[in-house]
Amino acid sequence: MLGSANMDLVGTAASLPRPGETVLGHGFTMVAGGKGANQAIAASRAGGRCVAVAAVGDDNFGPALRAGLADAGVDTSLLRVVPGPSGVALIAVDAAGENQILVAPGANAALTGLTGPERAAIVGADALVCQLEVPIETVTEAAVAARDAGVRVVLNAAPARPLPAELIAATDLLVVNRGEAEVVTGLPGAGVERLLDGLLELAPRAVMTLGAAGAVYGERAVDGERAVDGEAGVRLTVPAPVVSTVDTTAAGDAFVGALTVAWIEGRPMGAALRWACAAGAVCARTLGAAGSLPVRGQIDELFAA
Ligand code: ADP
Repeated sequence: MLGSANMDLVGTAASLPRPGETVLGHGFTMVAGGKGANQAIAASRAGGRCVAVAAVGDDNFGPALRAGLADAGVDTSLLRVVPGPSGVALIAVDAAGENQILVAPGANAALTGLTGPERAAIVGADALVCQLEVPIETVTEAAVAARDAGVRVVLNAAPARPLPAELIAATDLLVVNRGEAEVVTGLPGAGVERLLDGLLELAPRAVMTLGAAGAVYGERAVDGERAVDGEAGVRLTVPAPVVSTVDTTAAGDAFVGALTVAWIEGRPMGAALRWACAAGAVCARTLGAAGSLPVRGQIDELFAA
């Protein structure tokens, strides 16, 4: 995994503060997060062996972020410690569950120019999982190195933004939710099929997650080993298991981690997607962010149900 690590500082209040206003809140929790760290933890708990290529600050949050990864079995030996603050998300939540989030990227912004050991870990892996909360030049550098070494590149294009051609060309599997799909394809308001077509103009394989409705997957038609642009290939619609939804935070991260593990284990894509949907659903039925990312047994149980 190459990506972000953030400490989420979550305060709750009856109402959100307006500009210039101070409101007295009533609750506070601090929880390790960031899409990169969450996906590394998700992959590790799902049974994968995962190395974190990420950066934390030399502040009090750095060791806590490292411990959160290590406790889940993620290899933190390459985790950079850089001068200054760790990435922090300041999250205010009101009584209706509406939120306001300010992310200060801190050390995540310093994840530039891959080191020799980082590059070696990437090219020696079965897959590279990355997102867009660290500098996109670094994501591109890592994806190109992985692709050149025959390592599968899974790009979760979140937070969404238009993608550089070089990054797109190195991506084997693009994973986005519907809102992200609209941004990366430049097709706001388009239907599911059109969005999937748009994603497949970018990458040879693409998944769009649809919350409780599961996910859709597409693959370009293949002529021998080569994907054939513009021809209809595989299309799959995968339902998510029905669960009573408590908190969907990190469901997308659970999905990405589990899907990558299942894919590199060689499962057929349909089964890999159903397993990833089960991972997202376990996460959605449990309160919390990184803490609700499922272990393999929980995913298997819901998958088999
Ligand atoms: P994101 O969190 O990135 O917006 P989604 O909300 O689409 O991603 O969730 C990712 C996956 O998690 C979905 O494809 C689905 O499999 C599962 N999931 C999410 N919410 C629910 C839910 N309420 N019930 C069952 N599964 C869910």
